[in-house]
Amino acid sequence: MTGQAPPRFRPGPPPVRIRPFEEMPEMPELGPEAMVLTFDDGPDPLYTPDILTTLRRYEVRAMFFVCGEMADGNRDLLREMADDGHVVGNHSWSHPLIPSLPRSRIRDELGSTSEVIEETLGEPPLWYRAPYGAWNRNSFEIGAAMGMEPMAWTVDSLDWTTPGTDTIVRRVAAGAGPGVIVLSHDAGGDRSQSVAALRRYLPALIEEGYRPTVPHRT
Ligand SMILES: [Zn+2]
Repeated sequence: MTGQAPPRFRPGPPPVRIRPFEEMPEMPELGPEAMVLTFDDGPDPLYTPDILTTLRRYEVRAMFFVCGEMADGNRDLLREMADDGHVVGNHSWSHPLIPSLPRSRIRDELGSTSEVIEETLGEPPLWYRAPYGAWNRNSFEIGAAMGMEPMAWTVDSLDWTTPGTDTIVRRVAAGAGPGVIVLSHDAGGDRSQSVAALRRYLPALIEEGYRPTVPHRT
């Protein structure tokens, strides 16, 4: 063999995850019917309690990606989430467009939010989600340094456009599938449609055999 240059570096896994999880991390024990429901931008005392009540009614656990500035004044809701077995993730402090920020601001946005969560729940968050799903390399690196994995979504309910409860229900139903991650919101505007939709699509998903759950990290 001639003409083949030796590799200049040994390929290996990148030092940080360079793409967010876009489906539930593989957990065979959860079975093919597992789905993840996620709620962003809260907690909001107007809507989050109703969402918690519905999840509790069906004994379902979900993920809440909270903003620090909302969480700081609603720590009782954070505790309620954790007490019910939900996963509380980091969604930045003030919901900025992360790629527009210098590293120091990204560190502040993620770090201050993790602090509120840790102060309130006794443990720092293990997951984060960039506002608008806009990640960049800095945020992957900073998130990883804080011990967090990035998580995206696969089905966007677009509930923040207030398209009507029926439309939200239809979108979630149409997107249902194994390992699917559904994005909804419990804050950031009038979320009464999101609240009403969950009351309808959650029992429907369960009836179809899906099991909404949360990923685990060891
Ligand atoms: Zn958001």
